[in-house]
Amino acid sequence: MTKPALHTQFEGIAGLRAALAQRQVSAVDLAQSALAAAETASSLNSFLHIDAELTLAQARAADVALASGSAGPLAGVPIAHKDAFVTRGWRTTAGSKMLDGYVSPFDATVVERLQQAGAVSLGKLNCDEFAMGSGNENSAYGAVKNPWDHAAVPGGSSGGSAAAVAARLVAAATGTDTGGSVRQPAALCGVSGIKPTYGTVSRYGMVAFGSSLDQAGPLAPSSRDLLELLDVISGFDPRDATSLQKCDDAVNEPGRVRRGFDAAQSRFDAAGSQPLKGLRIGVPEEYFGAGLAPDVAAAVEAALAQFEALGAVRVPVSLPRTELAIPAYYVIAPAEASSNLARYDGVRYGHRAAQYGDLNEMISRSRAEGFGDEVKRRILIGTYVLSHGYYDAYYLQAQRLRRMIAQDFQRAYADQCDVIMGPVTPTVAKNIGDNRDDPTADWLADVYTLGVSLAGLPAMSVPCGFGHGGRPVGLQIIGNYFDEGRLLAIADRYQQVTDWHKRSPL
Ligand code: GLN
Repeated sequence: MTKPALHTQFEGIAGLRAALAQRQVSAVDLAQSALAAAETASSLNSFLHIDAELTLAQARAADVALASGSAGPLAGVPIAHKDAFVTRGWRTTAGSKMLDGYVSPFDATVVERLQQAGAVSLGKLNCDEFAMGSGNENSAYGAVKNPWDHAAVPGGSSGGSAAAVAARLVAAATGTDTGGSVRQPAALCGVSGIKPTYGTVSRYGMVAFGSSLDQAGPLAPSSRDLLELLDVISGFDPRDATSLQKCDDAVNEPGRVRRGFDAAQSRFDAAGSQPLKGLRIGVPEEYFGAGLAPDVAAAVEAALAQFEALGAVRVPVSLPRTELAIPAYYVIAPAEASSNLARYDGVRYGHRAAQYGDLNEMISRSRAEGFGDEVKRRILIGTYVLSHGYYDAYYLQAQRLRRMIAQDFQRAYADQCDVIMGPVTPTVAKNIGDNRDDPTADWLADVYTLGVSLAGLPAMSVPCGFGHGGRPVGLQIIGNYFDEGRLLAIADRYQQVTDWHKRSPL
């Protein structure tokens, strides 16, 4: 049994901040107890790299800032990063043998901003290799266990992040979401997670998978905690060419998300028991079809009923190309991956084969040894769909579908609903090893998350109950572009009247 870390005694990040400000607890105490908890929970395999000295140095700096009154908003808060963000000091592997032992000379923007805000990093969290997966079974460093049931996967690819938050080893963690990798593990581990609008959080220093889809997002117990992190990490970054600057002026100001949150709060904060009065929730019929397991459907239905009790109304909507998101995504993401992963050639950095004849053999052996099966599968698919004679049939066709999927969401938001809700995953967490003989079975589990990613929309996962075997279920809340403040406010209203997000397997 893990001894709970000290930070669990306080009510979320806000409670932690108050306790730190009043010096009831020090950043060093918090860091030491979190490091001890991580050590005791090492059988989860959620951490890949811990360096107590680096962590304690950050904690000491936070204590100095707190004492001098110059502390940032997250000073002393223990967090950890998915190993898909490069970090100065800690190794970065992206879950791959290809990057074994790699230490980046710079920090990712997300890492840098959290550090500037005073957050204390406990280290790097396990993930699927190059973020490719739905169960965290594709890590070269072994599967991560779901803290609710060690036989179960935590979801992927940010499985280490979700497991560490669920086990309360950290107050929050960073993740990345290309086709669902923040929302899906959040759902399967019973924590909250948000993937913001594409382009609002910098990708600089994120190990690239599918660049037109990759987006960073936080995982934490509650929606309020997510707001704390998102507020710090979002905003324009000149070092990322897809970072949004002009699209919406409000996007680039610090505190944007918080203001969005407040605005949504005031709009929906009609006094009394119906704070969400008038909110129109679109419920897509395609998200409740035959593929949805009854236990997940029941928990999601109960959550929708709770939102109705808060004053929201349900509106049936249709996202007719929901299932087509799978083939579209599994053409586009591998195409971009095959291009992004070409950089790992054994020449500049990453694994190099010990023995080879000529340059070609050096490259092919290095790649054969460095990449795992799923990554090779994606590179093969991606190279194929981009090749001469097939490009039009596969890649361009998938891009057309992508546009139509995005238009389906816009049709719903244009005049039918304010947000869309549904399940995150078709089932609760599977057992580790269940899909070992059928690698594409996992791909189908992404059916409710991929469309959002292809469209670039913001969406979150909020714990809403438990299903088969006592395994957690998540509710997905999808917004229109730049609506993350509103999503967080809506989820917060739900979390004020429910306690699913407070449950932990400890
Ligand atoms: N499960 C999806 C995939 O394997 C999504 C992963 C992700 O979002 N990083 O590609």
